[in-house]
Amino acid sequence: MHEVESMLQAGTDIVLHSCCAPCSGEVIRKMKDAGLNITIFFYNPNIHPKAEYEIRKSENIRYAEKLGIDFVDGDYNVQDWFANAKGLEKEPERGIRCTMCFDMRFEITAKFAKQRGVNIFTSSLGISRWKDMSQINNCGIAAAKKHNVQYWTYNWRLDGGSERMYKIAKSEGFYKQEYCGCIFSLRDSNEWRVKKGRKPITICKEFYEE
Ligand code: SF4
Repeated sequence: MHEVESMLQAGTDIVLHSCCAPCSGEVIRKMKDAGLNITIFFYNPNIHPKAEYEIRKSENIRYAEKLGIDFVDGDYNVQDWFANAKGLEKEPERGIRCTMCFDMRFEITAKFAKQRGVNIFTSSLGISRWKDMSQINNCGIAAAKKHNVQYWTYNWRLDGGSERMYKIAKSEGFYKQEYCGCIFSLRDSNEWRVKKGRKPITICKEFYEE
């Protein structure tokens, strides 16, 4: 058993770094079923533009309120994110810009957990098939170490997790983002779409449907 899993039992406090409602839906379901006491921490200054950030956040709040889960809104210190991304604008997804992005979000999440007296945190980021799970886990573990807490590296895609993620997103009618989040991922996704003869992304438009 994973070291962190041996610490988890019904009633254990855990901080969930949530990137968006669709990714966190299945993660929350699994943790709720296990009886964990979840606090959602939404800290994603990477998301651009602001309208996209607001809709992703409000969808997450809507779901947290429905389930009666604590939701804590982190800063939107977008200028700091851009400062950290300087020189990394051309990096591909899964490259070193993404490592910076995970590091930044997890550092603040680990600090938040520590200040709150919660010893374990995890993230919904790893459930996405577009992400490199080991890249995310390494960043989570490093941030946890700095703040003397633990990062739970559970693979949320297992045991039908990926399928249930879409099922929950559809049944809840969540907003459906069409790019990872930052201005550079928006640029790259649009370039790819244009090459495929598709229209560019329209922000705040698409929702999951049954
Ligand atoms: S592509 Fe996604 S993970 Fe990578 S830097 Fe942009 S928002 Fe962050």
